[in-house]
Amino acid sequence: MPEIKFYNRKPVPVEMHKVKIVQKLHLLPAEERLQKMKEAGYNSFQLHNIDIFMDMLTDSGVNAMSDLQQAAFLRADDAYAGSESFYRMQRKLQELFGIDYCLPAHQGRACENVLALRFVDRPGKVVIMNYHFTTAKAHITRLGGRVEELVIDAGLETESDLPFKGNIDLEKLEACIKEETPENVAYLRLETGTNLIGGQPISYENMKAATEICKKYGIITVMDASLLQDNLYFIKTREESMKDKSIEEITRMCADLFDIVYFSGRKFGFARGGAILVRDEDMFHSMEDMIPMFEGFLTYGGMSVKEIEAMTVGFDETMDMDVISQGPQFIKYVVDELHEYGIPVITPGGGLGAHIDARQMLPHVPQEEYPAGALTCAMYLCGGIRPMERGTLSEERNPDGSERIASMELIRLALPRRVFTLSQCEYVIDRVKWVWDHRDLIGGLRFVHEPKTLRFFTGRLEPTSDWPRKLVDAFKADFGEDQ
Ligand SMILES: *Cc1c(COP(=O)(O)O)cnc(C)c1O
Repeated sequence: MPEIKFYNRKPVPVEMHKVKIVQKLHLLPAEERLQKMKEAGYNSFQLHNIDIFMDMLTDSGVNAMSDLQQAAFLRADDAYAGSESFYRMQRKLQELFGIDYCLPAHQGRACENVLALRFVDRPGKVVIMNYHFTTAKAHITRLGGRVEELVIDAGLETESDLPFKGNIDLEKLEACIKEETPENVAYLRLETGTNLIGGQPISYENMKAATEICKKYGIITVMDASLLQDNLYFIKTREESMKDKSIEEITRMCADLFDIVYFSGRKFGFARGGAILVRDEDMFHSMEDMIPMFEGFLTYGGMSVKEIEAMTVGFDETMDMDVISQGPQFIKYVVDELHEYGIPVITPGGGLGAHIDARQMLPHVPQEEYPAGALTCAMYLCGGIRPMERGTLSEERNPDGSERIASMELIRLALPRRVFTLSQCEYVIDRVKWVWDHRDLIGGLRFVHEPKTLRFFTGRLEPTSDWPRKLVDAFKADFGEDQ
């Protein structure tokens, strides 16, 4: 089904599904939100969901399931070993990706752990990426490995009309392999839909060229397919040479380029789980023993078999343009509205969510005071909206203890797939505009408890001045005590 056309009004994205189950939301007044934010140590990960109106933290494990996915729960075959649910999933993955071997894992980062343990087999090994993902990088650096990010320069610009800002720079790729020497490169990891730089897609052409370079040097190629559903939509709609191909064909063509495909089933498949697909039998066996050790037996990998069944149905639904277009179309709607208002938002809209450039929005807050973290707090204080910080706070410090300044300082307003309505999106747009108009009131943050690894998950912070109080007072002056 193509996008629905309108006769007499501005076109809006129309849902190709209807709501069958709902969850009640709560909107606490601003004064209470200020208290909750304080209790959460100014870290949106530490908020309780019940205190949040619009949870836009992530698309991980929070996408709406279809009736058919929930119906599939009932088929689940509970067995420690040899569950039919696993074999059904494996057959579906073989059909879609054409890869025979499947290692189940409980979520995306568990796959990353196994891959890093297998291939980053001595300190100093390098993993080349278009762009890193927090957990992918943490597993590699923990083992003494290094990450080289070679996304094209335009990928790090806020505004652009380039269709594939997630592409890897092919010249830099080849130069990097030569400089590091192929023996020292653990693998190439291409993220199909870059999470940290605005859900920006990578083109089929670019994946093909990059994997060809790696094959020439005998380097293993890995696709992180966690955000593949959005990327498939963008390849179909933005890549001229692919527009007549079916989603099934595009999926297969992309998969054919790689030795290994892994994914988070919390995104790809609209459920909760993960898996590593391995083309070569020997390579598969070389990783096999890690699954029972870290995840669970080889036919469930730490997942509930119910979720395995739901994911399997979700893979099929991913092949349906009506399903995979909903996210990108809603994101485009939000991004275009914010852009029109002059708010520095990543353009063009990608997958995953709308991303605001906090460095441009809060130029008066130095990156050492985490402008994206502060903006995240401001969105909660001024609307009960929970975004995710994707900037310097999400980085880890350099070995000498200095801050590693992120190349992009973003907040992500994730749009979990099929979850929010357009009126809720309108509310978010309105509150972002209010915050933009009052951005001068927002100050910085500093750590009071700073964990060494993945500090953004569990760290506690405090404001560098009493700006949260002033911001809430200004908000109440405009909206009253009860909003
Ligand atoms: C979310 C994500 C992961 C990690 O998946 P989890 O299931 O959350 O552990 C890995 N890679 C990408 C690109 C992701 O978006």
